[in-house]
Amino acid sequence: MNPKDTPKKSAKEWRQQLSDVAYKVTRQAATEPAFSGAYWDHWQTGVYQCVCCGTPLFASAAKFDAACGWPSFDRPVASEKIEEKVDHSYQMTRVEVRCQQCAAHLGHVFTDGPTQTGLRYCINSAALEFDPKPE
Ligand SMILES: [Zn+2]
Repeated sequence: MNPKDTPKKSAKEWRQQLSDVAYKVTRQAATEPAFSGAYWDHWQTGVYQCVCCGTPLFASAAKFDAACGWPSFDRPVASEKIEEKVDHSYQMTRVEVRCQQCAAHLGHVFTDGPTQTGLRYCINSAALEFDPKPE
């Protein structure tokens, strides 16, 4: 199916599909508490997908330990999978990261990454679903 053909779901449909925390994070741009999610200290090989639509977003090879309590990646699987948008909420200027296919809020990207890309995608565990297949 072409990603552009994915039907837009209503808030009610998302609520039925998602856990409470996943709904708040992805559809209401909330941030899960640090060290609370399933993936901040998770190091299996595989791909992290969008919890809403299943799009592969981040590979385990791009994951690094940022010691911040959220899963952190230095790059997405492909830049067209995500949408980056300047976010001025909470009196801060940050770059918000969303799933390109379903507009789920994922987290933010910062330019203080320790690897070659210089980027740190700080992503909520609740926005992700891990698929443990080899890359
Ligand atoms: Zn999605």
